[in-house]
Formats: sequence, C-alpha cells, structure tokens
Amino acid sequence: MIDKKSETVKAEFRHRLLDWFTIHQRPLPWRRTYEPYQVWIAEIMGQQTQMERVVTYFQGWMDRFPDVAAVAAAPEQAILKAWEGLGYYSRARNIHKAAGRILTEFNGEIPSSHRQLLDLPGIGPYTAAAILSIAYNQAYPLLDANVERLFARLDDINRPLKTLKTRRKLESMAAALLDRNDPRHFNQALMELGALICTPKKPACPQCPVQPYCRAYRADTVEFRPLPSARDKRIDIVMACGIIQHHERFFIQQRLADDIWGGLWEFPGGRLLEGEEPVHCVLREVEEETGWQVSDPVFYRTVEHHYTRYRVTLHAFFCRPPEPVPEPVLTAASRFAWVPFAGLADYPFPAGHRQLITALRDGDFSGK
Ligand code: SF4
Repeated sequence: MIDKKSETVKAEFRHRLLDWFTIHQRPLPWRRTYEPYQVWIAEIMGQQTQMERVVTYFQGWMDRFPDVAAVAAAPEQAILKAWEGLGYYSRARNIHKAAGRILTEFNGEIPSSHRQLLDLPGIGPYTAAAILSIAYNQAYPLLDANVERLFARLDDINRPLKTLKTRRKLESMAAALLDRNDPRHFNQALMELGALICTPKKPACPQCPVQPYCRAYRADTVEFRPLPSARDKRIDIVMACGIIQHHERFFIQQRLADDIWGGLWEFPGGRLLEGEEPVHCVLREVEEETGWQVSDPVFYRTVEHHYTRYRVTLHAFFCRPPEPVPEPVLTAASRFAWVPFAGLADYPFPAGHRQLITALRDGDFSGK
C-alpha cells in the first residue's frame, strides 16, 4: 500500500513518476501555456472522449473560439457545429452558457475558486479540481478512469471500481500521494501513466516507473485488475430513420433542447421496439414524429457508432412523403427544415446521421 508508506517512500514514488512524465508526456496543445480557458475546454472535451479526437477538436475549437468572449458571442448552432461528432452535446451547450456567465460575472477570466467553478453549468467536482490543479496549480487530487485503473493495480484492489468502499480507498490514495508542491504535473503524470503505460489491456509493466510499488505486478494479478463490474457491459441501441426527399430537398428536424442530442438536427426516426423490423420502425417513428404516413421505404444502409459503452446501430431508409406535403406536426423536435443536399453541411448532426450524409455525398448508394 504505497499510500500508507513513509513520506520518504512516497517522495520517491513522486520523483520517479515526475521524471518519467518530463520525458514521456505527450505534447498536448494546452500544455504549452496551461491557459485556464484552454484547460477548461480540454477538460470538457476529454470527458468520455479519446485523446486523439480531443486534440483534433481542440485545435479547431481554438481557431474558431480563441477566448471566452468568442464562445459567449457565438450562436448556439455554431457551438454545436464545432462540437459535431464529439457526442454528449450537453457539454457544448453548457460551455456556451458558462462562457456567458464567465464574461459577465468574472470579466472573462476562468474562476480560480472551487465554489465559483462548481456554480457554473457543466462543471462538476472532477472538472473543477482538474481546472484548479492543472491551470492554477492548486493542490486538488484527481481521479479519472486512467488513475483509477492505475491505483487499483498499484494496490491490487480485489473489488470492482464502482463500489463505495473502493471509491473511498481510491480517494484516500489520491489525497495521500498528491504532490502538493507540484499538483499540476503530478496529476497529469498519473493520468499520462495510465493512458500510455498502465493501459486497460497489456500494460507495459517493464517500462513502468512505479513498478517497484505495484502490488498487482508482484502478485501477478495485473490482467485481473481492476475487477470488471456489471455496469461495464456494452449496451446496444438499435434505431431506424427515414431520409425523406422532396424536390431535391431533404427533410430534417432539430431535436428538443432537453434531449441527449438536444439542438442537433437529424432525419426523423427512433429506437426499434422489441421484435420490430427496422422498416416498420421507420414508418411508425416518422408518423409519430411528423404526423406523415410516408411510403415506399427503400433500405439505404446501416451505420454503426460507438460512444463510451453504447453501440448505436442505425438503419436508414429512403422514404416518400405524402403528396402534397402537409406541414409536419412535430412531436420530438422543435423545428424542421427542407434543405438542399449541399446545405446539410451547415447543420450539426449526431455521428450516425453525419455518416449517412457523408455516404450520400460520396455517392455511395451501395446499402451496406
Ligand atoms: S507495474 Fe504494470 S500494472 Fe503496475 S502500475 Fe505499472 S504498468 Fe500498471
């Protein structure tokens, strides 16, 4: 138990870790200056998202919105468009809301107090601690998924991560090991070690700087740590949607604000009921969402999208609207538009629908 060892041993642990980080850290763009606005955006983007994607989106975001004032001044559609493909769009909407408040209440400066950060939309205890430790070098411990896995192995914890007892143990390890002189680099070094060396599968133990303190390594239980929990299982979601075209324009609708994809645009559709065929789902969903009885559904293709533990399978069908086309009665959307194909690029869509548009753009009508 490294956290129960003497201060000398803990100091050695920190020393090894920080030495490794100095040499091996990735050159992430926000690490150049640790500017609080950049750290905030990187932290929100990093929630449930792989680092490679974060870096790509981060650079595009900073080009478009170089500071808090630029975010606050932008329309929500521009914010959602910049976020398109990252998923969990409430994160983008919360950044937008928080930017307005930071501008008016804090003169555009990201607050450096825990209480003030927690009061902003989209900032919970973890994100507040991350901003404070990484941007402001304040002594807050951090426990992300990488650090949890690393600690579970360091202490050879024989319980799933999500139990209360394990959570308390991990928190006490994080607090006891924290380098209070250099929390910025220490916290990032732990996360980086989890991301690059103590990986979920096949960790690189021979290259690990803290291997001498690792109980799982000594006990030869690394591959069994952390113990999986029932909540880690993948969840399959199967959906179907209708691509409705009329006079060279496509029907799209904007999802309600309180929805998981709130504010984004989509082809109408929804989840399959138990035992339902995708084609029947399309006809039912389009009627429920627009009041239209569409006809002649022709299968186009199936696309798949993964986010965190969800796998979304989306079956798409071309459909013909009723003639003449009546005004839709929207039940799952706030507004609709008939858009020529080239105009679809201007609207933010969830990842699956964007894949469909890309396939249509590429002229791929093969129906995979
Ligand atoms: S020795 Fe292996 S299992 Fe232990 S902390 Fe290092 S990488 Fe992780």
